[in-house]
Amino acid sequence: MPEVPLLKVKDLVRRYKLPRESLLRAPGEVLALNGVSVRVMAGRSLGVVGESGSGKSTFARLVMALERPTSGSVLLSGRDLNAMPADELRCARRDFQMVFQDPYGSLDPRQTIARIVAEPLTALGKLDRASLRERVAGVLRQVGLRDADIDKYPHEFSGGQRQRIAIARALITQPKLIVADEPVSALDVSVQAQVLNLLQDLQEQFGLSYILISHDLAVVDYLCDEIVVMYLGRVVEQGSSEDLFACGAHPYTRALLDAVPRAKAGAVRQRRQAFATASHSAAGSGCPYAPRCPLADQHCRDVPPRLHEIGPNHLAACHKAEAVMALPPLAEAGSALVPDRHGA
Ligand code: ADP
Ligand code: MG
Repeated sequence: MPEVPLLKVKDLVRRYKLPRESLLRAPGEVLALNGVSVRVMAGRSLGVVGESGSGKSTFARLVMALERPTSGSVLLSGRDLNAMPADELRCARRDFQMVFQDPYGSLDPRQTIARIVAEPLTALGKLDRASLRERVAGVLRQVGLRDADIDKYPHEFSGGQRQRIAIARALITQPKLIVADEPVSALDVSVQAQVLNLLQDLQEQFGLSYILISHDLAVVDYLCDEIVVMYLGRVVEQGSSEDLFACGAHPYTRALLDAVPRAKAGAVRQRRQAFATASHSAAGSGCPYAPRCPLADQHCRDVPPRLHEIGPNHLAACHKAEAVMALPPLAEAGSALVPDRHGA
């Protein structure tokens, strides 16, 4: 029997209504997710990259069933999260937990670490105080904090330590999947690698799966077997990190790669953020990337490309994928494909 994916996301669409600007006009809409499909096998990790506004956090909230999709489905171990009765969903939450970007905003400043970290477990049902404290102390040790930290408050910790607390909170239900939305973006560069190392150690120890979301390809490359590149709510490329780095097939992937520091080894460094901004409104009927793409021709502007296979486990949504793949990796390709990088 074929193995059931831990997570199977199918044709996920999420529309948001924008605030009405005038009484005479219908309110506008944003298609934050426009038909995203991915699967994650148990113990494997998926990286999701794309610039701000590409729909990454919307994807995370839908996978976590914090919001309902406009259409499409999210299956965890074969069970449709949006078709479950509330009670069943509450129990199922044991298996998937989330770590948010902001280690300051995501921890309630008025609660002790004991209560914060225990919260996902207490939400599942009653446990006596002594065994709760024991469980909390256990996960604190797993993330490199001390037993004595249990009665402190969030303000007593540094940014990196707070993110460790957030990871401990996610771990306490012994989940199969952790969705981490920009987990290191708010941290000092020197601390980013420590937190990524911790996530990697925990994965090895517990066989966890991650969905790691970042605007930075170098961050997801660190931890993920497979990467999807998102642009304006769609997956524009999907493949192993080796394939993406060696023969990225979408011009947007190449542009992201060009922004990754050349010295990939060592600590993850901040990358330049000098792209022109993507806009839902600028995209016409053709390829949504065409307005920014140096290779776009009339066909690209008229006909939207479909996500199609361009190699084993390698998909891209680009009419010129083969030409892009044939370009040399990184440095040389970057200059040809990122004309607006220096502040258009
Ligand atoms: P990312 O995390 O990649 O930066 P988001 O998922 O936050 O992207 O946002 C994708 C798009 O959806 C953006 O255009 C954003 O403005 C819009 N959006 C996200 N959440 C909402 C919301 N609750 N209401 C209206 N628009 C939203
Ligand atoms: Mg986001």
